[in-house]
Amino acid sequence: IHRLRNGLSKTREILTTDIDDLFTSNKKTEELLEEIEERLITSDIGIQTTMELMENLSKKSSKISNANQLKTALRQEIISLFNTPSPTQEKISAKPHIVMVVGVNGVGKTTTIGKLAAKAAAEDKKVLIAAADTFRAAAVEQLTIWADRAGADIVKHRENADPAAVAYDSVEAATARGKDIVFVDTAGRLHTKVNLMEELKKIRRAMTKTIPDAPHEVLLVLDATTGQNALSQAQMFNDALGVTGIALTKLDGTARGGIVVSICNTLNIPLKYIGIGEQIEDLQEFDPAQFVDALF
Ligand code: GDP
Repeated sequence: IHRLRNGLSKTREILTTDIDDLFTSNKKTEELLEEIEERLITSDIGIQTTMELMENLSKKSSKISNANQLKTALRQEIISLFNTPSPTQEKISAKPHIVMVVGVNGVGKTTTIGKLAAKAAAEDKKVLIAAADTFRAAAVEQLTIWADRAGADIVKHRENADPAAVAYDSVEAATARGKDIVFVDTAGRLHTKVNLMEELKKIRRAMTKTIPDAPHEVLLVLDATTGQNALSQAQMFNDALGVTGIALTKLDGTARGGIVVSICNTLNIPLKYIGIGEQIEDLQEFDPAQFVDALF
């Protein structure tokens, strides 16, 4: 929770700094609500979600006469917007459990896979990483470093090889070697959107040859600093592939942490992980109550 508080400091600043002043300056309730509305929008909770929240908040406004009451009310309203339940231990029944990781370049996909691999390895799981973005040599290099560090296997082919072949080999290797979990890195070159989605579908098909219900998870990585843009990315990947979970990175670098609320409130996809820094411990399972606690 301490790391989380630090990670969310920029967003917290936007939402709660000088909130006491709002009361000492004798503002009218209406002005007060306008100020709150502006703060919510600045934090990137999104227009629609903000409207919803403000409507509920204004019903309570007669009972709010100091900063603490306001914070409590805001806290309650934000909590009520989350449709994600608190994290429950993920059921991993399949072995190997295949996690296909998707997202556009630069969002933190490689880093997220590295952190997840390290966490799984620390729980004594046997991990394999599939380097199925064969286009980015640098990403393969990074993944190799993460794999070495975690003591995980990595399957990689030469540069520009067929990504689907890497995925196929990875699933075969993981099955043969008795691995518990496979993280499949994928391409994220967005300028060829149709091609990208086709490539991702081909990767998925290649895996089902060995394991018919693979992948068991399609984890979409989104970058919090891109704000509402992240939502349209989610829509796009979800339409093409069916996303089962979201990892939202770089919350530490932005005041736009309200995007968390927006993602949970408008998408029907669970937010599973949040990234609040570069260390392994900075990838945390998302917990709505903890998140709100860290904000207020
Ligand atoms: P990819 O292109 O999607 O594979 O992105 P990378 O994994 O290479 O990450 C791009 C940059 O974002 C790297 O410098 C990472 O260290 C950084 N990054 C990833 N996640 C986080 C995060 O949660 N917080 C911060 N501050 N940086 C992050």
